Amino acid sequence: MIIILQPGVDADGAEVASLRKRAEQLGVTTWVHRITGASRELVEVHLHGDTAAIPTELFAGLPSVERVVRVSQKYRLLGRHEGQLDAVGFTYQGVRFDQESCHVFAGLCAVDERDSVERMMAACARAGLSTTRMGAYKPRTSPYDFQGHGAACLPWVFEIAGKHAIRVIAMEVTHEAHIDEIRRALDEAGRPTGVMLQIGTRNAQNFELLKAVGQQREFPVLFKRGMGITLEESLNACEYVASEGNRDVVFCLRGVKSHLGEPHRNLVDFAHVPVVKRLTRMPVGIDPSHSVGRRERGPDGLADILHATAQGLIAGANLVLVDFHPEPKRALCDGPQALTLDELPHFLDDVRLVREAYLARRKLVAGKMAG
Ligand code: PEP
Ligand code: MN
Repeated sequence: MIIILQPGVDADGAEVASLRKRAEQLGVTTWVHRITGASRELVEVHLHGDTAAIPTELFAGLPSVERVVRVSQKYRLLGRHEGQLDAVGFTYQGVRFDQESCHVFAGLCAVDERDSVERMMAACARAGLSTTRMGAYKPRTSPYDFQGHGAACLPWVFEIAGKHAIRVIAMEVTHEAHIDEIRRALDEAGRPTGVMLQIGTRNAQNFELLKAVGQQREFPVLFKRGMGITLEESLNACEYVASEGNRDVVFCLRGVKSHLGEPHRNLVDFAHVPVVKRLTRMPVGIDPSHSVGRRERGPDGLADILHATAQGLIAGANLVLVDFHPEPKRALCDGPQALTLDELPHFLDDVRLVREAYLARRKLVAGKMAG
């Protein structure tokens, strides 16, 4: 059961304390969540335990309560519970992430040379982007492939990010210790930028790692859908993060592993954007680069990666994670799927066009529903 409080109710005040006491006397545990919305702060009190016999009226009539929602077992913390709850988002480094926002994280799959990072971030800044991707810890299929520079590159990556006013870097972590390494490097660099901790598809069910990113609230989490598990299993993995206390999670589709996707690297699954938005309160991202996995163009002149991006955006995606590289041939990881820096302005023009079309579709359907 979730008790949503009236706007302005203080999470640490007497009303919430007495409400929690009343609930705990009924044998359930309570958990208070503060949610920063786009326009208001929202406080929710979650009741955990056997709530089936507790009538909602017990709380619904209290002056501090806006409404009471009975939740299903599934996706307890992140679910919308049959549309009873609105989406929630978060603001990080002054950037708003929710089911209405749309951000492009264009960057390197893997940090290689300082010069690539410099040129990549300068290109982002020129294009008006303050969000990028930079892999320092790379989970590779072969142990003989480049594994990423790890903590060693963080000082200069963060310094260059600060120089180009990059506010958020999506960066994969493959071990709990990486969270501390990132925190320490940010501190030492004087906090010039921020990091969104990426959980890669290979770690989608690494429950200890999920708990570790959930146990901290400093960094938001970008969760990549597990490539060989069901959508439900991936959404449950996000609940692992949330149930440890961190609900600042973006769910990112990245294609699923199947030979049926060939010649693409994975089978593009962006038709699931509205599904995840309907089932959960999370913003939903897409990664067209790891879905398509190659730079080829169609006869219409548009790269398959741009077509896949458009498929996700026309369906309402809130974030695009996409690989670029100043010299893809020299990239140490995933060069064949990297777009070049001179393609970035056109990529962003295409993104804007499709996003506008999505917003126009929203207007059209809203008019239809009102009429
Ligand atoms: C990545 O984004 O760098 C990556 C490895 O993606 P995924 O985990 O989706 O394969
Ligand atoms: Mn990659």
